[in-house]
Amino acid sequence: MIDFEYHAPTSLDQVFGLLDQYGDDARVMAGGTALVIQMKQRLSQPGHVIGLRQVGGLNSIESTTEGLRIGALCTQRQIENSTLIAEDLPLLAKTFRKVATPRIRNMATIGGGLVNGDPNQDPPPALIALGASAVMTCKSGDRVVPLEDLFLDYYETDIHPGEVLTSVLVPPAPAGSGSVYLKFLPRTADDYGTVSAAAIVSKERDGTFKDVRIVLGSVGVTPIRAKDAEDALRGKALTDENIRAATALVKDAVDPLEDFRGSSEYKTDMAEVFARRAVEQAIAGIPAGS
Ligand SMILES: Cc1cc2nc3c(=O)[nH]c(=O)nc-3n(C[C@H](O)[C@H](O)[C@H](O)COP(=O)(O)OP(=O)(O)OC[C@H]3O[C@@H](n4cnc5c(N)ncnc54)[C@H](O)[C@@H]3O)c2cc1C
Repeated sequence: MIDFEYHAPTSLDQVFGLLDQYGDDARVMAGGTALVIQMKQRLSQPGHVIGLRQVGGLNSIESTTEGLRIGALCTQRQIENSTLIAEDLPLLAKTFRKVATPRIRNMATIGGGLVNGDPNQDPPPALIALGASAVMTCKSGDRVVPLEDLFLDYYETDIHPGEVLTSVLVPPAPAGSGSVYLKFLPRTADDYGTVSAAAIVSKERDGTFKDVRIVLGSVGVTPIRAKDAEDALRGKALTDENIRAATALVKDAVDPLEDFRGSSEYKTDMAEVFARRAVEQAIAGIPAGS
């Protein structure tokens, strides 16, 4: 492990002061599950680590007029077990439950996972499908970034120098929608997905598709929204034929990296399969009478 100085500020003002003072030589740390590994592997070598855990006010889940506000320091376990999340956004509770093991989920935070920008993580596809945004705060104020725009490249996210991700805003799911997050785990139950897919679907009174959102994980350098497939479904009847034709378009949207979980070709095929299953299962989850 490299030498570094650890700071434990108790307010955001102190965090901003430290970020100002140490600039590029400083990194903030939330749960540390990603950063500590990156430091051990010398992929990141900050001289100053700024722990966020003692900063107050960043670990609550609140209901607002625009949806739920989830503090950036909420752990994955806290989100998985929150009554508010279970009632308002059950898709999120189910998604966070699929991350690794309880040991990781007890430490890892929603904010740390998002800024980390690993395209294999589970929460981003579900959060993007829900239309969530990240609140980036610096000493001069807040900047709201839709999660769809947050992920720029492999482990690269739209966070500016001096900013801290302070909360995640999640609007309610569309009325009468069904939703699902699927994680393809051919190896072990606590692995990262070989491919993953989140889908949220609602229907018009005439039985055609209304809202359709499909977001894929582990099939490119960022999470990928399958916009062509969504457009191909909107306004169409909920038939197997339409779903197959639309989700076949997913293959052109993805560009998976080959690794020990599979070749690029295999993951591309699986992206189509899991997009189709996700849409089918989201339809099955539409509440009766909607
Ligand atoms: C063994 C193992 C298995 C895993 N399996 C899975 C899995 O199956 N699915 C999955 O989705 N993930 C998995 N993960 C990844 C895990 O979800 C991430 O490591 C975790 O989300 C990172 O959160 P953290 O709070 O620990 O971040 P940290 O490690 O503290 O930080 C990560 C990065 O974000 C920055 N950062 C942290 N918080 C903030 C903030 N509030 N504002 C600005 N920057 C910030 C840090 O500077 C650092 O660059 C696994 C990790 C491990 C170690």
